Amino acid sequence: MPAALNIDLTPFNTLALPGRAARYERITSAGQLADIGQTEMRRFILGGGSNLVLSGDFDGLVLHMTIPGKRLVQVDGEAWYIEAGAGENWHDFVQWTLAQGWPGLENLSLIPGTVGAAPIQNIGAYGLEVCEYFHSLQAWDFERGELISFDRAACRFGYRDSLFKQQGWHLSGRLAIVSVVFRLPKQWVANIRYADVAQELAAREIATPTAPDVAAAIIAIRQRKLPDPAVMPNAGSFFHNPLVDAPTAARLADRHPGLPRYPQPDGRVKLAAGWLIEQAGWKGKSLGPVGMYEKQALVLVNRGGATGADVRRTMTAVQAAVREKFAVELSPEPIFL
Ligand code: NAP
Repeated sequence: MPAALNIDLTPFNTLALPGRAARYERITSAGQLADIGQTEMRRFILGGGSNLVLSGDFDGLVLHMTIPGKRLVQVDGEAWYIEAGAGENWHDFVQWTLAQGWPGLENLSLIPGTVGAAPIQNIGAYGLEVCEYFHSLQAWDFERGELISFDRAACRFGYRDSLFKQQGWHLSGRLAIVSVVFRLPKQWVANIRYADVAQELAAREIATPTAPDVAAAIIAIRQRKLPDPAVMPNAGSFFHNPLVDAPTAARLADRHPGLPRYPQPDGRVKLAAGWLIEQAGWKGKSLGPVGMYEKQALVLVNRGGATGADVRRTMTAVQAAVREKFAVELSPEPIFL
């Protein structure tokens, strides 16, 4: 199918920012990518558009990854191996694994986006990162003109980070992830160390939760705290939680009692970006049509009619406020096109 021309991308990004693609093609199979081959146009690989700030029109080819499919590929004494197409909706995929009786991904319920995007930023929530249950993926490499497999080590996963992000391959359009395999161990223990989850389960009087119980608790928490993009356009957490060295964290805690601090295995300390933004006075505050959400200061929202430039303006103002109060730099999580 030939690419469509001059397509409106507003419905394809959850911040609902305006912009048009010079060319747009919906991808439903890996074979289609081989047919596209090398084009001289800039390419952008689009998933669910939930981690994207669109700056305006894109004078290139947008490849919208909608490759479907999910199946059990292997089972042994220790684990289930499940493959999913890059275009599968992440939350639906997680709920499907749970319905099959394969626990593990429940803490990542209701994260927006697609299966193919999950490894790129090593999505994480409530004490679980997707890399923990990641087995391998297949990606089309436009430069080499072939499908390449990446195992877990090859992906160089880090905190909300991976090789694909480090290399900028998603932005440059060099590589398109077509499918991902997860390894879900049969031995399972509920991961309920985050306070919100433990409290929600206690309120439900569930002492020994199953994986679907944990999923239901997390879905309820997220629905309470986070805006639905269909109602209030947003891109989830807008800033990374900053990592600082231990003396800096101790100094900040002296000056700012109540500062949440989470020591990391590498000796650094994770700070809660949402807390810093709230203390800097930005919770519920807006600049023009873009603000930080009133129930969760880490979520930047489009209150109606915003452009990419409006997002950048608010982002810069929030970064400046946090820098002034805490001398800490916030870096944005989404990618900018
Ligand atoms: P929260 O419970 O208000 O906590 C604020 C921050 O403190 C979180 O970002 C979390 O870091 C950290 N934290 C809390 N308890 C922790 C613990 N026991 N050990 C280590 N770190 C801890 O967080 P929230 O904003 O409501 O989010 C809840 C979870 O959902 C978080 O894991 C968050 O990352 C995830 N989430 C992700 C997105 C996204 O778009 N990426 C959007 C919304 C929520 P971590 O973020 O490192 O977990």
